Amino acid sequence: MAERKLNITPVNDWGLFHLPPRPCVIAGPCSAETEEQMLETARGLRAFGINVFRAGIWKPRTHPGSFEGLGTAGLKLLKKVKEETGMHTCTEVAGAKHVYECLKYGVDLLWVGARTTANPFLMQEIADALQDTDIPVLVKNPVNPDIDLWIGALERLNRAGVTKLGVIHRGFSTSEPTLYRNDPGWRIAIELRTRYPEMPFFADPSHMAGDRKYIRELSQRAMDLGLEGLMIESHCSPSCALSDAKQQLTPAELKKLLEEEITVRDSQSDDASYKEGLNQLRAQIDVIDENLIGSFAARMKVSRDIGLYKREHNVAILQASRWDAILAKMKEEGRKYGLSDEFIVTVFNAIHEESVRSQNEILSDKA
Ligand code: PEP
Ligand code: MN
Repeated sequence: MAERKLNITPVNDWGLFHLPPRPCVIAGPCSAETEEQMLETARGLRAFGINVFRAGIWKPRTHPGSFEGLGTAGLKLLKKVKEETGMHTCTEVAGAKHVYECLKYGVDLLWVGARTTANPFLMQEIADALQDTDIPVLVKNPVNPDIDLWIGALERLNRAGVTKLGVIHRGFSTSEPTLYRNDPGWRIAIELRTRYPEMPFFADPSHMAGDRKYIRELSQRAMDLGLEGLMIESHCSPSCALSDAKQQLTPAELKKLLEEEITVRDSQSDDASYKEGLNQLRAQIDVIDENLIGSFAARMKVSRDIGLYKREHNVAILQASRWDAILAKMKEEGRKYGLSDEFIVTVFNAIHEESVRSQNEILSDKA
């Protein structure tokens, strides 16, 4: 399908963030819980210059019976935070009713959660409710790694006239065992970035990580990829949080993270901008290399399964004709991308050798 242009207002013109330098930061608790929790957290964040405060009001929880947010009462708390601290406020909307409520209570920025982005019916409903408003909206990636679903959600909002539009990358659900709560899947973020370089781009290392100990490395990665902003969960007393207790930082921890633990390389001079460009490209290479390792591992697993299968059926490991066919096909495939035959042969011979070695191990294993 032909790619549609999106009409985007630069984040500098949203009037919400202190700019520059990067990152634009949105911080605040996973959920609004009490007035004390909201005000204490907001004051702690405000004290070191954070001026966009987040708090979930309607919480999409996996199991019924978990804390599902304060609803409209939470909007009153957001309003109070705004009045008492002067911070801008933002919350998640998952339908038209949420949008109307937020507009009524003067929320400054909305975000669409990952479960909602995945649902075109709800996205259209939200887009319709936002017609003729000027409120900025950030759209999280859908829970599943489907870039078109993400783009479709952005198109719906943009068609409804939302131009203060940006994205939040929060990683993808996966059934694979991973270090993090959600698979970062940076490849998809890079692709979206490449297609829409003008789109304000945030990362949400909190929901990606699922554990506060990984927030630093994920924030650094987001900065190295050149993203504009970070949304990070912060709670005055994280261990007592009613949702996402493991992944929230205290305001003091967040201050340390931003001021001491992550390095944000910004382009001041030509030389610095060269370095920044290089860092972004290297960060992309790092992601691709990690993906390569994942693909090698997946291939080796299947190869071992074939070894077991052959053993069961008493068949020899090496089948030269099959290998010749693979190599010919890969050379042909490589040529389409300008990859030399020599390169393909070197890489695939190394892969083949390792496969044969591991299949031989299986065959010699009498167990
Ligand atoms: C949240 O930001 O609190 C949230 C529910 O996030 P996500 O939609 O990324 O799961
Ligand atoms: Mn959360």
